[in-house]
Amino acid sequence: MNIHEFQARELFAEFGVATQPGKVAHSPEEAEKVALGLSGDRLVIKAQIHAGGRGKGTFKSGFKGGVHLCNTPTEAKDLASKMLGQILVTHQTGPDGKEVGKIFVGEAVDIARELYFAILIDRATSVPVVIASTEGGVDIETVAEKSPERILRVPVNPFLGLMPYQTRIIASSLGLTGPLMNQASKLFFNLYRLFTERDCSMVEVNPLVVTNDGHVLALDAKFNFDDNALYRQPSIVAMRDVTEEDQREVEASKHGLNYIGLDGNIACLVNGAGLAMATMDIIQHAGGSPANFLDVGGGATREQVASAFRIILADKSVKGILVNIFGGIMDCDVIAHGIVEAAKETGLAIPLVVRLEGNNVEAGKKTLAESGLKLEGAENILDAARRIVAAVNVNA
Ligand code: ADP
Ligand code: MG
Repeated sequence: MNIHEFQARELFAEFGVATQPGKVAHSPEEAEKVALGLSGDRLVIKAQIHAGGRGKGTFKSGFKGGVHLCNTPTEAKDLASKMLGQILVTHQTGPDGKEVGKIFVGEAVDIARELYFAILIDRATSVPVVIASTEGGVDIETVAEKSPERILRVPVNPFLGLMPYQTRIIASSLGLTGPLMNQASKLFFNLYRLFTERDCSMVEVNPLVVTNDGHVLALDAKFNFDDNALYRQPSIVAMRDVTEEDQREVEASKHGLNYIGLDGNIACLVNGAGLAMATMDIIQHAGGSPANFLDVGGGATREQVASAFRIILADKSVKGILVNIFGGIMDCDVIAHGIVEAAKETGLAIPLVVRLEGNNVEAGKKTLAESGLKLEGAENILDAARRIVAAVNVNA
């Protein structure tokens, strides 16, 4: 799960991570009001979307930049009116961009240096690792590729946490000494506490800045949370903004289905993540392209299967469906009933190929055969993939 920058700032406040004052606004008038409440003679206005690269992004309206500096509350209002309700395209949003529904209005700061600081889980060593670099503000991927020696990696022992000597090493490698080192150490320590206590999988501060008047501040924030830990993070779940997410995935998660939307046109409904992956591969192998990853799980109910089918059918880019079920624990007849229920309700107007195997398969096949639904059975997974690809190509 992701959150907006202004929400990340609420977490900063809770955990004592230094940043500049500011607030979220939903309208130009509100932006002006927030600006009036801030001190300092310069302001920063930032589009709030679940994607980075906003500064260098462009609105579909032609207006350039999702991050702007200005001097007066009136200018803040004017900038807000150019961003709110508009689609912002950045290198992280994809060509469709994201609609800006909220903006952050904050005090601008005089930046002396822009640094990079992140904490994430290193999959190779299975421990948190701090990534820091003097090359903040720009695209860190380019730095990692072109000058990897400028990136410091510090693994953290999860039982000990980030130790004071480590925060000092990191600060010193970022060129922060004296009072700046003390401020940075405190910021790193509090950010690490936030990372662990809120079950983050990634916290990225880019830029972490040193100001001309001698402060170390987090100016931007990108957070990812471990979805498997959300059950014990109600305050984080409350920050979820479903308008930023793929609507098909939002619907699927309501029904406990593992669903990831993709760009192709052949939908798959499969039980088990491994079989789902194999099914997507074999669709590609047969010359097709999957519209989704969908694992209904080992113990799916008839209702879940029906919901899965509805989600698939609601997707306009889907031109054919491949059901590939291996009933180990799963009862094939439950799947069959779910398919029939959803297909009858929605009216199935696209080709459907079903491959059922395993537990209670004869009953499942009988249910499908007696339903009167127009569908094709398949001998095996390769046969099934070839059939659906052929059917979709005929209809295309
Ligand atoms: P993004 O990473 O999405 O482009 P950032 O928040 O990192 O958005 O902003 C981009 C750039 O804008 C920063 O690298 C920084 O140079 C400048 N900036 C952001 N916030 C402020 C601020 N409060 N004061 C001055 N400059 C800022
Ligand atoms: Mg940034």
